[in-house]
Amino acid sequence: MKRKMKALIKEKAGPGAAIIHMDIPEPGPHDVLIKVLAASICGTDLHIYNWDKWAASRIKPPVVIGHEMSGNIVKVGSGVKTWHEGDYVSLECHKTCGQCYQCRTGQAHICRDYSILGVDIDGCFAEYVRVPETNLWKNDRIIPPEIACLQDPVGNAVMAVASVDITGKTVMIAGCGSIGLFAVGVARVLGASKVYAVDINDYRLKIAQKMGSTSSINPLRQNLLEEVMLGTRGEGVDLVVEVSGNEQCLLDALKTLKHGGRIALLGIPQEKIYLDLANDVIFKGIILAGITGREIFSTWYKTSALLKSVLDISQVITHRMRLEQYEEAFRIMQLGECGKIILYPD
Ligand SMILES: [Zn+2]
Ligand SMILES: [Zn+2]
Repeated sequence: MKRKMKALIKEKAGPGAAIIHMDIPEPGPHDVLIKVLAASICGTDLHIYNWDKWAASRIKPPVVIGHEMSGNIVKVGSGVKTWHEGDYVSLECHKTCGQCYQCRTGQAHICRDYSILGVDIDGCFAEYVRVPETNLWKNDRIIPPEIACLQDPVGNAVMAVASVDITGKTVMIAGCGSIGLFAVGVARVLGASKVYAVDINDYRLKIAQKMGSTSSINPLRQNLLEEVMLGTRGEGVDLVVEVSGNEQCLLDALKTLKHGGRIALLGIPQEKIYLDLANDVIFKGIILAGITGREIFSTWYKTSALLKSVLDISQVITHRMRLEQYEEAFRIMQLGECGKIILYPD
């Protein structure tokens, strides 16, 4: 095997990234080395690329970015027993401590002491990535690499949508970035009777329609509350999945919720948000649910089972590019004219 690989690296504090040639990492006793077949760009990668406030406070360059991938194991560490060369895998990007209360009670996705591949430690926008064996997920070959690499964000959507019974219920997806688009598809295959897709970007609303949304609302042109109340006979929706992180969108979404409804919160707001707790939450009996990551690995089981059977997410993939085209890829993401962009390192 060759000794050097290309990798997309955040070299120093500030905007941008660069492709470098670096040593192929050596797996430790409980790691494996994976040859990356496909990787996808996440909003997190864009934050790091743009070097916003969050990235500046979190990222310690140099680090190889990227955390959504699929590939084949090419080498296993000396202590690895259950994984083998040739296994087709994806990775859970949260490397959890295994020792805290949450880890020891089946809630590792909210571990108190975790690091993230592609954020805190070297990630997968490279020809090879080193991954701890506990972070591996075995893929079925029936799922192609460009779909298998998306299980991380599809998992976010599954966790947000599938945590309550939505059969025959009405759902609103507030924000049609890729997680929102996946959430539209998940809500439909799980039997939601009506799925409202909300975004100010018409390009993304069109993809939402292909994913099965029954109504599109662009708040720049339409009154969100009026549209939803008209379509639900004044009842409001049962579930809101808030993925926009936009303050006004969140406040409006709360008002569209049915009494006793639930809002899954995934979008990260830039600033603190003030809620009318008394009127919009307490007196309506609303449940606010923070969603971070995916349950490890129960959400993975659900996600891969859905992808193997009823859930088709291919419409969300709008661009396929070589790793070397990363500047173009991030430019397209900055413009918002895309669903998911897949990068091929080879
Ligand atoms: Zn991601
Ligand atoms: Zn932990």
